[in-house]
Amino acid sequence: MKYSKIFSKTSKQPPKEADTINHRLLTQAGYVDQLMAGVYSYLPLGLKVLNKIENIVREEMVAIGGQEILMPILHPKTNWEITGGWQSIDVLFKVKSRIDKEYALGQSEEEVVTPLVLGRVKSYHQLPIAVFQIHWKYRDELRAKSGILRGREFYMKDMYSFHETQEDFQVFYEVAKKAYLKIFKRLGLTAKVTEASGGSFSKKISYEFMVLTDAGEDDILYCSECDYCVNVEIAKEKSQDECKMCHKGKLMIARASEVGNVFDLGQKYAKDFNLSFTDKEGNKQFAFEGCYGIGISRIMGVIVEKFHDKDGIIWPESVAPFQVHLISIGSDAESLYKELCDAGISVLYDDREIAVGQKLADADLLGMPIRLILSDKNNGKIELKKRTEEKVELLTKSDLLMRLH
Ligand code: ATP
Ligand code: MG
Repeated sequence: MKYSKIFSKTSKQPPKEADTINHRLLTQAGYVDQLMAGVYSYLPLGLKVLNKIENIVREEMVAIGGQEILMPILHPKTNWEITGGWQSIDVLFKVKSRIDKEYALGQSEEEVVTPLVLGRVKSYHQLPIAVFQIHWKYRDELRAKSGILRGREFYMKDMYSFHETQEDFQVFYEVAKKAYLKIFKRLGLTAKVTEASGGSFSKKISYEFMVLTDAGEDDILYCSECDYCVNVEIAKEKSQDECKMCHKGKLMIARASEVGNVFDLGQKYAKDFNLSFTDKEGNKQFAFEGCYGIGISRIMGVIVEKFHDKDGIIWPESVAPFQVHLISIGSDAESLYKELCDAGISVLYDDREIAVGQKLADADLLGMPIRLILSDKNNGKIELKKRTEEKVELLTKSDLLMRLH
């Protein structure tokens, strides 16, 4: 893609209200644009990142048997009254029509997915089922802050699974947790599996996936020796206590951002909607449900919080909008650009006629993994620099093509 064609360019001016690095860098680099507090547009390069994160999540959900669907955002009030959410969920956005009919905007979708799936399940033969969607969510957050880490509108993957027994749920719960760790690893993130309370309806514990960052809003205690980790909000322990799991490590406190979570919902929703199936013994039974969320847009922000320097963003390869950022100095890089594209390499070519210094600064701000410079001075050789390194290499075109493959 040619940078001159992209309508959203970089800006030298940081946005006025930016309180976090992700808000500042993503806006200055022209990846996102804030419409109002907690609501953002994703611009051409930003949408590429969001799509890449989304596709990694999708692949891993399909790999564990998830069936992708797309459910409505506009929900009837009745469904939310049946589960009690209309009264109890403070972040639920409520909408009134011109004839005073009331609706909710989806903040999570148990109220839609449970009747959708269990309305079709008559016998235990049909279970288990796992469905997921990747879609916008709406929450009336009191303070929408921290850039795209906390939106009033945000992009989420939500999966729901339905099981014949609690034991069968438990098996899938572990499979889903493993898939989550694989997803975060592919995204370049280390997520800690953290014990937390089960939310408004449940006494059970849930698991949150936490990435350490000062821009997060949670405090967690993690063991210095083993994988044990707990959210401070519910924890009986405190910082410096001995770990109750391994009895070797000490609990350390850290700020973190929740990038995903998994919940054991039990039979609550099946019972609320009174949707039963016939079990092996011929008895009426309510299905056991789990729900599994991943904050796709929040992850984009967390990645920027983790991977940047004073000059800009440093995208991990798996989510970078382009692998290569090509700049020409003096000579015309048009034919090199074509050759790279023909070789299947994804290239952002800065073809603008502006000062070289500006092009170099933009390359750092935009954060592609590899920067290439074609310059008159190098006798046809091409300069390669990784965004993560200071080292510069001069390569012939054939060496370059080998390197990039
Ligand atoms: P938090 O404690 O941060 O409010 P939550 O417990 O309300 O999160 P869930 O309802 O389980 O989160 O939503 C699933 C995932 O969606 C979260 O793990 C998080 O990554 C993301 N998420 C939740 N709320 C927001 C928000 N307001 N903006 C962006 N992402 C969010
Ligand atoms: Mg919340």
